Amino acid sequence: MTAAPRTFADARRWALAGAELTFDAVAGLDDAGYAAPSALPGWTRAHVAAHVAANAEALSNLVHWAATGEPTPMYASPEERAAGIERGRALPAARLTAWLRRSADALEAGMDRLTDEQWRHEVVTAQGRTVPATELPWMRSREVCVHAVDLATDVSFADLPADFLAALCDDVTAKRAAAPGPAVTLRTVTGSRWELPGTGETFQVTGDLPAITAYLTGRDADLRTADGSPAPELGAWL
Ligand code: ZN
Repeated sequence: MTAAPRTFADARRWALAGAELTFDAVAGLDDAGYAAPSALPGWTRAHVAAHVAANAEALSNLVHWAATGEPTPMYASPEERAAGIERGRALPAARLTAWLRRSADALEAGMDRLTDEQWRHEVVTAQGRTVPATELPWMRSREVCVHAVDLATDVSFADLPADFLAALCDDVTAKRAAAPGPAVTLRTVTGSRWELPGTGETFQVTGDLPAITAYLTGRDADLRTADGSPAPELGAWL
């Protein structure tokens, strides 16, 4: 880790920026455009958009939890989560786009209404982590920023805020350090550096920040090791 730690204000800014990029990415999509493949295996763009909209509603449940103290989980069950994506992806393009925007706006409005004390209330994520509500903007930032790229229109990692990319590399590196994998040291030309602990030889990989972020999140990055061979494949992230 090399960048300054992310702040709450950073995460709220990135959530808005990522949502705008997502809106831009889907703005020109008709039904055929939504039916085209996304960058995620087995998912169309409509699946990604429905997932991002459902995520906003799920995070709004956690905002409600923080505001009221009433436990309202993100999703009722994994089946309910999958069913929401299936229903959403079958919507006509204009309705899917409208849901994406409406759900994002409602989440922002809900967060705007939280008091300082409510932001400190603990909630439980879909992965079972107990976190203060102040983590919600960061969770949302990851979703909207990374999936804006996954929509495979014309948004790339280079379009995301550089400080977001550095924070995401920190986050993913910390998460990956807990799971077995190849040992990799990643460096940018400007001197930032992330290390994935692992067994065996350490792969030395250099690239620009967007490419390193794409690689760490398991997306196509075309990064090479010092001897010119492809960087080792990483398992799933999240
Ligand atoms: Zn997601």
